[in-house]
Amino acid sequence: MKNIAVFGSTGSIGRQTLSVCEKHVDAFKVHTLVFGSNHELGIKQINEFRPSTVGVFDEHAAGIVRESFPGLNVVSGSAVWELAADPIIDIVVNGVSGFNGTFPLLAALKAGKRTALANKESVVCAGGLVRRALKEGGGEIIPVDSEQSAIFQCLAAGRRQDVKRLILTASGGAFRDMPKNELERVTPEMAMKHPTWSMGRKITIDSATLFNKGLEVMEAAFLFNAAADDISVLIHPQSIVHSMVEYADNSVTAQMSVPDMRLAIQYAMTYPERCESPAAPLELSKLSGLTFFEPDTERFPALPLAYRALRIGGAAPVAYNSGNEVAVERFIKGELRFTDIPGCVVYAMDRIGGAEITDTESLLECDHEVRRYAREYVPE
Ligand code: NDP
Ligand code: MG
Repeated sequence: MKNIAVFGSTGSIGRQTLSVCEKHVDAFKVHTLVFGSNHELGIKQINEFRPSTVGVFDEHAAGIVRESFPGLNVVSGSAVWELAADPIIDIVVNGVSGFNGTFPLLAALKAGKRTALANKESVVCAGGLVRRALKEGGGEIIPVDSEQSAIFQCLAAGRRQDVKRLILTASGGAFRDMPKNELERVTPEMAMKHPTWSMGRKITIDSATLFNKGLEVMEAAFLFNAAADDISVLIHPQSIVHSMVEYADNSVTAQMSVPDMRLAIQYAMTYPERCESPAAPLELSKLSGLTFFEPDTERFPALPLAYRALRIGGAAPVAYNSGNEVAVERFIKGELRFTDIPGCVVYAMDRIGGAEITDTESLLECDHEVRRYAREYVPE
C-alpha cells in the first residue's frame, strides 16, 4: 500500500487522481489532501477519503475545515508545501496550478519522494533549483502532463543517445482554424472551451493561445535534457497521439490512447508497472482519421516565443510563465484582448532579460518583477 499526498485535490488533476485512488483502493491510500480555498469540495473529499492530514493554503478556508473536523490535523498557509516531505508519504501528486506548484515539488524532491508531476510551471521557472533538489534528495519526477508522459513512455523504446527529436503534439486549442482578425474578439467564455480535453480554466486558455504548448516545449527540455532545436511541435486535432520520439534511424515511436488524464496520472503512480485503468480502450477502427500539421506561428506567436525564452534561459522562462499568468488574469477581467496576451509576455520578457536564477530568493524576486511588468503593460 502506497501513501499518497494529493496537492491541488480540488482541481481537475486532483479530482482525477482521487478517482484513480478510488479504483485501486488496495494499492493507494489517500493520506494527505492539499488544496487552495475550495473548502466546500475539500470537505466532501475529506468525508469521502478520510485523509490523516489536510493542507488548506487559504487561512479562512482552513478555519472552516478545522471547525468541521475538530480532531483532524489541518495545516494552513505556506506550511502546506512541507506536507510533501512528510516521511510517511510515498508518492506526491502535484496538481497545483501555476507558479506555486514549485514549492511542493522542491519539498518532495529534497525529501527523496516520487513526484507525479502535472504542474509544468515549476520546471519551466525553477529548472536549476529542481535539478539541485533531485540531486540532493534522490527523489524522482514521473511526468503526468500527457505529452511528457507519452515521451517518457516512447523513450523506453531506445537509448537516450539515439534520440534525434522529441515531437510534441497539440490539439491546436479552441481557435485552431480561426482567422487572425477574428481572434481579437475572442472572449474568456469562448477560450474556456477545449475541443478535446476537460481541464482547469487557466490551462484551457493556455491551450487556446498555445502558451500551454510553449510551456510544454520548455518542460520537455527540462525533463528529457533536450536542446530547443531537438524539440518540435505538430498540431494533431484528435488528441490520440499524445507525443512521439524520433530516433537516429528515422523510426518514430508514438504513444496513443483516448484523451483521459487518469491514464497518465495512474501510470506516474504505478510506474514501472501497468494495471487496469479507468480510461476507455482505444478503438482505432472507430476513428475517422488521424491528422497532423505544422502550427501557424504567425497567428499563435506564443510558440516561437517559448523557443526564444528557452534559448535565453535564466529569468526569460519565468517571464514567459508568470507574464502569461498575469496576462491571462487580465484577459479574464476584460483588461486585455485575447491577442494582447503574447504582447504582454514579450513586454515582461524584454524588461527582465536573462539573469540567472540561483536560489529561491532570486526566483521569487524575478517572479515578482515579471508580474509587476505584466500588470503595467498597456497594449497599443
Ligand atoms: P485547476 O485550476 O483545476 O486546479 C488547481 C488546483 O490547485 C486546485 O485544487 C487549487 O485549489 C490548487 N491550488 C491553487 N493554488 C494553490 C495554493 N496556493 N495552495 C494549495 N493549492 C492550490 O488546475 P488543473 O488541475 O487543470 O491543473 C493543475 C496543474 O496541472 C497545472 O499546472 C496544469 O498546467 C497541469 N496540467 C493539467 C492538466 C489537466 O488536464 N487539467 C493536463 C496537464 C497538465 P482551490 O481550487 O481549492 O483553490
Ligand atoms: Mg499537456
